Amino acid sequence: MGLFSKRERADGFTGGGSGVTVLTGGAAAFVPGTPGAPGGPAAATPVPRAGDGRADEIGTVDDLPEFVRTLYDELDMAPSLRHVICPVLVEAAASAGGRGRFALILTRDMANSDVTEEILRQLRLRFDPDTPAMHLAAAQVMVALSRGSVEPTGGSDKLAVGAGRRPASALWQNFDAVGRFALREGASDLHWEVEDQSGYSQVRLAIDGYLVAPPEFRMETGVMLDTLSHVWQKGKGGSQGVFSRVLPQQTSIRAKIDGQPVVFRWASMQSATGHVTVMRMHREEVETKRVNFVHDLGYFEQQAQLLDRNTMQLGGGTVLVGVVGSGKTTTAHAIMQRLPAWMNKMAIEDPVELLAEGTHHFSVSRTLDGANRDEDPFIAAKRQIKRMNPHFVMVGELRDHESAGLFRDVAGAGLRALTTVHAPSALTAPDRLSDGELRIPRSVLATPGFVNLYVYQALLPKTCTCGLGGADMKRMLGADKLRQIERLFQFDVEGIRLRNPQGCDLCRRPNLPDLNGARGRTVVTEMFEPDELDLSFIRDAKNIELAAYQRSKRQVGFDVPDSTGKTVFEVALYKVFAGIVDPREAEKLTSLDAYEARRQRELARATNTMGIHA
Ligand SMILES: [Zn+2]
Repeated sequence: MGLFSKRERADGFTGGGSGVTVLTGGAAAFVPGTPGAPGGPAAATPVPRAGDGRADEIGTVDDLPEFVRTLYDELDMAPSLRHVICPVLVEAAASAGGRGRFALILTRDMANSDVTEEILRQLRLRFDPDTPAMHLAAAQVMVALSRGSVEPTGGSDKLAVGAGRRPASALWQNFDAVGRFALREGASDLHWEVEDQSGYSQVRLAIDGYLVAPPEFRMETGVMLDTLSHVWQKGKGGSQGVFSRVLPQQTSIRAKIDGQPVVFRWASMQSATGHVTVMRMHREEVETKRVNFVHDLGYFEQQAQLLDRNTMQLGGGTVLVGVVGSGKTTTAHAIMQRLPAWMNKMAIEDPVELLAEGTHHFSVSRTLDGANRDEDPFIAAKRQIKRMNPHFVMVGELRDHESAGLFRDVAGAGLRALTTVHAPSALTAPDRLSDGELRIPRSVLATPGFVNLYVYQALLPKTCTCGLGGADMKRMLGADKLRQIERLFQFDVEGIRLRNPQGCDLCRRPNLPDLNGARGRTVVTEMFEPDELDLSFIRDAKNIELAAYQRSKRQVGFDVPDSTGKTVFEVALYKVFAGIVDPREAEKLTSLDAYEARRQRELARATNTMGIHA
């Protein structure tokens, strides 16, 4: 475990905060500090960590005994000790000359130590011991205490802490209700939208790419804020100990929803009218099923072969490009699962989102404001990874110079590397990789074998079996639009199907009429496998030439499932042709009018060039 910084090792704490934690997919060693089932007695059961948890240990902050305040400062305790021992005042002195009562909350390792003896001695000078005077607690509980993120709940200060403070179990149930609904409806994101000026605020859910506002999740603004504050405390790897309405914050929350392990990736920020928290939801079970790129995700057969060839057989990098919610993470994990078991597979993420079977997942977390820059965990990981003999490394997302540096290191060494980045297309990904933030030099990007494949993908809703075709489709879409599609893509429009606004039993969901007629989503993807001419355009930042050269690579019509030389919109039009995607959904990528205008400009440029040469 050489991955922890010296400071953390000295603290005896390796469970969160900045630095690197190791989670191994597929092995029983990784058991997250789950808050437990809501409300029920299960919530009081401590969650064992790597087999060392015991029933006599406090596993979550909710199970702590009542206390008035912590006594770290009274004893002038060193920060490193605060991670393992927490003295608390259980009851304040009744009178000025009286003595209050204390208790110690501590880790099992510290129970019989000399340090504990000394702390007990000092405490007895001023207070009387409570019964019992010692409580064993799990490492994550000690960390929450030391960060000050546990609100005292007992003693005479009780009312002062907050009249009308809501019980923790009710707040968790509130969150759990939203989580269960989201899980049942297959939502990808939970949007908690706090409106300061309104008595009520709404949770909206992203389902199949639509944002919907179920009426049952409109709640008192105060309740929403308390719920968020309570849920924040369950976070791992958060940048701050306490939920803030002002600062941008991120963390991940592991929970059991309806008996299923789920991880919520939290990003929150103050808005002009209140506060917005977006939680991306992932089921956390280690996925053992080998995902089929074609049947499960919607890639073309030709694209699946390209992905396999570049990730299984070649060294060097594959870059997945897309906006938030484009399914990049799902694709990345599908790729990892498809890699053979003999490979030493590693994933470095901030934070870990999905666990892939047989992959070592390393969670890297750091503060949003870059406060721990001088000991950036990516640098520690970079040093360490090389000593661990990997065959394949995934770097979760390139967001800054440090993460890009790690990817450059791995792909440049000829290892199989995979990463994700936000960019508007596969062809513009090199611009993003070489910009002022990520700083991978164009000369490196232009090196053959450094990046073998750029994949840009988006997710579009699939038309349900109740979709409208034939005369209904033609009437709804209109003759102009149909003629435009024929003119631009030269395929038979008879197979087009539209979403049925009435829906059917398969696609209708209670109180969510916006989703009628859509069921599930499908990937639409452009893939760019740079050849030597492409690399020279990338080196010289010749984007227009690069795009024109790609167009020249297309050899088949838009009604053929092959993406060579096609843009993501052109790939989506194949799915329109095949009746899988409603053309109005495809137009959310680019409108047909905008596409046509661009085609005409390109044509004019080509004609012009020919004229000059003639
Ligand atoms: Zn339907």
